Amino acid sequence: MRILEEPSVALSDLSSEELSAFVEEQRAAYEQYVAAGLSLDLTRGKPSAEQLDLSERLLSLPEGHTSADGTDVRNYGGLAGLPELRALFAELLGVEPGQIIAGGNSSLTLMSDTLVHLLLHGGVDSEGPWAGQGTMRFICPVPGYDRHFALLESLGIEMVTVPMNADGPDVAAVKELVKDPSVKGMWLVPTYGNPSGITCSQEVAAELAGMETAAPDFKILWDNAYALHHLTDTEVKSADILSLASASGHPHRPVVFASTSKITFAGAGVAFLAGSTETVKWFTGHLGKSSIGPDKVNHLRHMQFFGDANGVRAHMAKHRAIIKPKFDAVDEILTDDLAAHEVATWTRPEGGYFVSLDVLPGTAARVVELAKAAGVALTPAGASFPHGKDPQDTNIRLAPTLPPLSEVRDAMAVVTTCVLLAAAERVTAS
Ligand code: PLP
Repeated sequence: MRILEEPSVALSDLSSEELSAFVEEQRAAYEQYVAAGLSLDLTRGKPSAEQLDLSERLLSLPEGHTSADGTDVRNYGGLAGLPELRALFAELLGVEPGQIIAGGNSSLTLMSDTLVHLLLHGGVDSEGPWAGQGTMRFICPVPGYDRHFALLESLGIEMVTVPMNADGPDVAAVKELVKDPSVKGMWLVPTYGNPSGITCSQEVAAELAGMETAAPDFKILWDNAYALHHLTDTEVKSADILSLASASGHPHRPVVFASTSKITFAGAGVAFLAGSTETVKWFTGHLGKSSIGPDKVNHLRHMQFFGDANGVRAHMAKHRAIIKPKFDAVDEILTDDLAAHEVATWTRPEGGYFVSLDVLPGTAARVVELAKAAGVALTPAGASFPHGKDPQDTNIRLAPTLPPLSEVRDAMAVVTTCVLLAAAERVTAS
């Protein structure tokens, strides 16, 4: 459903009469959407039912209950996870099989556990537990992943932001911040970032891996959630952070995370943690106090489902075929409706799950409010910033994977009308 056919004029070029007419036009279009009683949702980056169906065969696996090394997966044990599944994801993530563990269904839980263990026990290169050392800070590239920020907030770790540039976090800003010993680490979604879609270059990764930090046990929490989630035929390769860190004398700095949440089942996949051999030993040492072993039945089921690394790649191509048209629709509607008015910029991601939309500063919250009243749920403005506060009130994260394509199109038509109406209101008021 598209209600408005637009003349193409930059808002800043309009006279005040033209601007008033423009506001009225947008309001009229908007009121029609409100009257249509829509109920659409672009909030969270969830796989659609069609994507989940790609993995339906998992529900009839595993065949048998014995892994390649003869382990009966139904029993306790094997804290580090099924060796063949670890080897498979070691290959895909570019790490050594001995440096990765396969856990439960959530990498976010592994991230939380890592931070809690650092706080309570300190890391392999720490002088002692982080807790009790006074104020602790983490560097957060923005826009970033809201749950990373919520986790730090819940643990009492302060957040300092750096911009996300086209090749990764702003290294100069990071290097300045790490001169402070209270800055204990940083987040990074290195491949097809949430929500920026940006991939950290090998050069930026080398700088982060090798930089001097005042904290001797500085950590890079390398959340490679979208390592395999390509939207084009060019399969971007993640920077090899473990080798870079090891080569520059900081082998324990990165802790790598990934999962099959957006490969198989978001609620019943397998999560992975990788790091130096010592880091993996450190993590499993603590894990062994709270678990006698992971769900190896699920590990075996995933192993049989994929077969090998090419099985995973072929599976990801099927995801791409489903979601690429949705990303194309988002870009097409943003371009058609907004480009000429010069009131917004947005990303054209080559992978991952999000489009990052920057509207006129000071209007993001208004856009989200307008969209809500017209029946389109958007991620709250500011969600991609610590404490949910975008200082510019400009960023909106769009997540087009869950709804069917037709609903993505309908929702985006509403979004662009809201962006134009909010911008026009703003320009008229100033
Ligand atoms: N990391 C990032 C960057 C994400 O975007 C998400 C989910 O949206 C997760 C982690 C959650 O991962 P998991 O399902 O493995 O806990």
